[in-house]
Amino acid sequence: MEQQVTEGVYFIQGQDEFIPDSHVYVVGKPDSEDLSMIDAGLMGKGDYKIRSIQNLGIELKSIKRVIMTHTHLDHIGCLTGILERIPWAELWVHDVEAQALESGDERTVYGMEMFKSMCMMQYNLKPGDFSVRVDRKLNGEENLELGGINWEVMHIPGHSPGSIGLYNRERKILIPGDVVYADYAIGRFDLHGASGAEHKKSLFRLAELEVDILLPGHNRIVTNLPPGYIADTARQWATYLT
Ligand SMILES: [Zn+2]
Ligand SMILES: [Zn+2]
Repeated sequence: MEQQVTEGVYFIQGQDEFIPDSHVYVVGKPDSEDLSMIDAGLMGKGDYKIRSIQNLGIELKSIKRVIMTHTHLDHIGCLTGILERIPWAELWVHDVEAQALESGDERTVYGMEMFKSMCMMQYNLKPGDFSVRVDRKLNGEENLELGGINWEVMHIPGHSPGSIGLYNRERKILIPGDVVYADYAIGRFDLHGASGAEHKKSLFRLAELEVDILLPGHNRIVTNLPPGYIADTARQWATYLT
């Protein structure tokens, strides 16, 4: 399932299995031919994501980069498959997780040992499968102009050490990865490199933004977010986030 959320912002719904598959967003004005994919998804979902992009009438050659909100398995699983289809595209990841990937440290990708062995068996993965080269390491201070739309990069660690959010101030659009979802849910904060205290800080930082359109990594998207929604969510979770 794919749809345009608003001009220059497209949503491709994750196809969850017994492990979730992250949503993908494609951002950029179509005539700019400078589009960006946000996240990839679970192993085996690359063809579905590519097909969905084509169903939207977007030409693959206009996809110039993949930007990862973070590198958990449900977001990065089919990245190599997707990059094989668009080999000209750059890969942009926050510095902390980029360094881990490049050095072959896959602890953040798998999150926990038990999950790692299960997934490696289930999906026939080998150590080093996610040792990709990152073209641009983000630090969370960037103001990006991508295909005619401005995005502020925010480093919002806690769910993972290098989680980033993308915020468009003009149209009040937030792509927060797995940091905050609809329905007062937040991402887990017990995996490798996660931190409840950092997650709390990140939520309160996001709470300062005016957001109308919330485009998280999973579950439903919201196009008329009530004012104060992220602040309410942060307050509800605050006592658990230490
Ligand atoms: Zn995640
Ligand atoms: Zn996720």
